[in-house]
Amino acid sequence: MENWLTKRAQLSPDHLAVQYQETKLTFAQMNDQVQHIATQLAQIAQNEERIAVITSNQLQGYLMILAVQQLGKTIVLINRRLSAREIDFQLKDAGIQVVVQDNDFHLTLSVNKQVSFAEVLAIPVTELINPVADFDLNKVTSIMYTSGTTGNPKGVMQTFGNHFYSAIGSALNLGIMTEDVWLAVVPIFHISGLSIMMRSLIYGMGVRLFEKFDVHAINKTLLSGEVTTISVVPMMLTQLLSDLPAGTRYHKNFRTMLLGGGPTDLTTLQRATAAGIEVVQSYGMTETASQVIALDAANAQRKIGSAGKPLFPVSVRIAHQDENRHGRIQIKSPTLAVGYLNQPEKYANTFENGWFDTGDMGWLDDEGFLYIDGREGDMISSGGENVFPDEIESIFAKLDAIKQIAVVGVPDEKWGAVPVAFVTFTDGKSLSRQELRNFGRDMLAHYKVPAHFYNASELPRTASGKVQRHKLPHLIAESSEIK
Ligand code: ATP
Ligand code: MG
Repeated sequence: MENWLTKRAQLSPDHLAVQYQETKLTFAQMNDQVQHIATQLAQIAQNEERIAVITSNQLQGYLMILAVQQLGKTIVLINRRLSAREIDFQLKDAGIQVVVQDNDFHLTLSVNKQVSFAEVLAIPVTELINPVADFDLNKVTSIMYTSGTTGNPKGVMQTFGNHFYSAIGSALNLGIMTEDVWLAVVPIFHISGLSIMMRSLIYGMGVRLFEKFDVHAINKTLLSGEVTTISVVPMMLTQLLSDLPAGTRYHKNFRTMLLGGGPTDLTTLQRATAAGIEVVQSYGMTETASQVIALDAANAQRKIGSAGKPLFPVSVRIAHQDENRHGRIQIKSPTLAVGYLNQPEKYANTFENGWFDTGDMGWLDDEGFLYIDGREGDMISSGGENVFPDEIESIFAKLDAIKQIAVVGVPDEKWGAVPVAFVTFTDGKSLSRQELRNFGRDMLAHYKVPAHFYNASELPRTASGKVQRHKLPHLIAESSEIK
């Protein structure tokens, strides 16, 4: 397929490509800048097969990612918020020698060259190099690491074909309009953000790039009518809702809030509906190059709580079902990555008869809508019953006094394992252990009620805000129980 950026610059040169703060670039302007940067990059990384980019969601990093792609080299995306030790692990894994980074990134890494964006942009250019003519659909264009929610992140190898089918699958569900502008505040170093960049090239769609999740600024933008779509993770939705004055409605131009990345409790979804927000629930992962399951607007109300149906190019099945039809969520999709970097066996082992096993558990209703129970590894087997932390958390999230709650299983002599909860209260509010237990007993089967409630000041989270449950048991020793 022809190079997406040069093709797009030909097809819609004057259409908005990206806006960051006050700077707006059309596709023609963006293409010019990217080709210039690609020429500069070529001078410091001529012989590299892969270049690592460390960036937050800002314009220079955005252009840098596209420039690496123009050189036909693989972009290795690094989570800016990791420690030097964690980044070094990924750079070594990917065999990286050249890192280009945000101007205000100051960690020293174990590589030959660490070059800031400002230094790249200062390299003199005499003659522009030729960008690659074609984007081979089978070629790996990006390597990005999974969030590391369950352990060490895995380097996922994504091809142009993965991104292409992902963009098409999304378009066939959400539709595309010429004046669409997608707000990208989810990190461009994760698939949620990178997939917006790829859709922009493929659709000819504008992107409004935000560096930080400034809840007030984002709400202002959604109220202004300047954007039509936004991708959010559950924590962002919760914050947007609390910041939105009662009775206020987003602008009519704003069409879709694509929500995914982790479980959302029903209370929050209902609040969103009451605020007139069209939330499209979705499910996906780094390995599937973003959403593979999504709920269409027509069913959003009727099937609230469901992650939806597989997108057009995707198939889903539930394997190893129990008597209630709950089992392992498995996927077939042209968006499935070609492998884990340096761990071909680990990736091969996630397949069962050609189906990719997501490691998540769930069930399909009679109409084929998927409901997600949670991660297999988080499942608590208590006295022969399977319990998912997500369900318990979702129930307790109904309580106003609870700001955050995370549940994890701990070993128990009598039951095998029992759920325990870590709780942060809303400012100025609290509940006693007895009140929490009484509420739990009213709402849940007794074996699902946490055996202990601990005070937590902060929960261990990944960069995308997901609770790292495997770290919770270690907190018990240093945490006090709620009285
Ligand atoms: P790691 O694989 O390193 O442990 P991770 O799985 O969190 O990290 P990602 O690829 O960013 O890394 O996240 C994908 C996972 O997020 C899914 O496998 C699933 O567990 C969870 N997830 C995504 N969307 C949803 C959703 N709508 N509801 C519930 N869980 C979701
Ligand atoms: Mg995962």
